[in-house]
Amino acid sequence: LDFLKELPKVELHAHLNGSLSISTLRDLGEKVYGENTEEFLELCARFIKFDRNSKLEECFEKFAFVHELTSTEKGLRYATEFAIRDFAQDNVQYVELRTTPKANSHYTRREYLHYVVESIRSAQTKYPKIMVKLLASINRAEPVAVAEETVSLALEFAKTDGDIVVGIDLSGNPARGKFSDFIPALRSAREQGLKLAIHCAEIENPSEIKEMLAFGMSRCGHGTYLSKDDLTHMKRHNIPVECCLTSNVKSGTVSSYEEHHLKQLMEAEAPKVLCTDDSGVFDTTLSMEFHLATQTFGLNRSQCIELTKEAVHHSFASSEEKQKMLIKLEEFLKRNP
Ligand code: 5GP
Repeated sequence: LDFLKELPKVELHAHLNGSLSISTLRDLGEKVYGENTEEFLELCARFIKFDRNSKLEECFEKFAFVHELTSTEKGLRYATEFAIRDFAQDNVQYVELRTTPKANSHYTRREYLHYVVESIRSAQTKYPKIMVKLLASINRAEPVAVAEETVSLALEFAKTDGDIVVGIDLSGNPARGKFSDFIPALRSAREQGLKLAIHCAEIENPSEIKEMLAFGMSRCGHGTYLSKDDLTHMKRHNIPVECCLTSNVKSGTVSSYEEHHLKQLMEAEAPKVLCTDDSGVFDTTLSMEFHLATQTFGLNRSQCIELTKEAVHHSFASSEEKQKMLIKLEEFLKRNP
């Protein structure tokens, strides 16, 4: 585990509001509500209710709970900083955060993105060893008009903050919304240079999977229900599946670690990356995800390095940034032959 902890890892699938651990949520609660205030104590009591495994639908309830804490500028800024701090502590050298721009009485969607981007910039000074990028998420449970706004905001930020804002993610409850409705917004994002990471085949829905693969994507989130032919397609088009073991098992879309499709992906030699998804909600770290893969599928050290190199390759970083990541890996290997 020490080797995996020290490994300069690359995280490509991390939802901001899902990446706050229980202890970080406490830190955040203290910042937002103050220590020992009634609101803070009530919040602590509510953690307990959620502090156990739950099915996918219930997991979405957990997000609503975290969203309360990040519903102000202050909460959102601290949450962004703390999520980066936690990844940095796990020796993640590069993280692509993704988050759904939200609007409420405290901020507009533009302000939401602005606060997150600013917070990423200041966290980069505080935690210089970690590189951070951002994808704007489209929540498929929300109206298409919101998706269009999200894409146009992401394009706007990509002009001024293109070193941070690099792409679009399609996520949200996979049982809600129709993929084809989002195609025009996604196409326009892609045509204007944004990369696309799409939650695909998270639940069994063969016609939607077909539509998504025909449309194309740079990376595929989860890919749990991809068929053998689909895996051949992924391999041919060099589209990696973002595998999130703990998240899939705890949310019940995969019945056990042994049955996780990482095995099929390895056997098919199809592109894949290991990710956390929601390290806070599912109580994990990227080191733990690697450890699980070594325990369940017998991955050895060099396979863990290879997986990390695959993640570098499939990241939305520039070629210079990718080179930097590979150099860090080489240096690590020299120290840990
Ligand atoms: P946020 O976008 O608020 O920063 O992160 C939480 C949101 O990400 C959730 O409300 C949900 O829309 C999305 N999300 C987080 N985990 C998953 C997942 O495993 N599957 C899907 N489809 N969406 C997710």
